[in-house]
Amino acid sequence: MRQPLLRPLARLALAVAFIGVLAGCATPAADRSMESSEPGSSIPAPPDLGSAGLTEADGYVAPGVWLTLDDDVPAITNLEDDLRAALDAAALSARERGVEFSFTNGWRSAAYQQYLFDRAVEEYGSEEEASRWVKRADESRHVTGGAVDVATSDAMDWLNRFGAEFGLCQIYANELWHFEHVPGVDAESGCPAQLTDSSAG
Ligand SMILES: [Zn+2]
Repeated sequence: MRQPLLRPLARLALAVAFIGVLAGCATPAADRSMESSEPGSSIPAPPDLGSAGLTEADGYVAPGVWLTLDDDVPAITNLEDDLRAALDAAALSARERGVEFSFTNGWRSAAYQQYLFDRAVEEYGSEEEASRWVKRADESRHVTGGAVDVATSDAMDWLNRFGAEFGLCQIYANELWHFEHVPGVDAESGCPAQLTDSSAG
């Protein structure tokens, strides 16, 4: 019924336009100028973690690298099923509104979490002060795969407005980027009151 040549050409034109849109979404210039990762690219070896024996297998994500839900690395693939499902559903909804999710951290091994805590103790001078920012290995939801750290402020904003619909909540008032799946939370209930910082629970 339609001219047979036009359909493949039209499809090609649509595909080119779509790829253009994707490329635009993937690299908003201002946001990602420091960023070196494309989805699926390998993650640079951690320069300062070699002596600690920690690698990508520990969930290490190099500074400046942003992960997506499509990345096949332990930081993403070891996320808990309920968090992963909530993020997948939320990401679809966010994308419809022009917001893409990316992450600076997801699952971490206990060894990596302990390393971060020990470094924080050095930096902040005491375990008490360090624990306001970094949880011990046996307390962190990152170690179970139950938490992600969101990379961009527009994704944080979106999750704060609409995340409850998917059970996704910011847990600590001082960690705008840290989200967990909270069972039982929905759009009606909203998220529970935020804890002051990670030392509060
Ligand atoms: Zn976190």
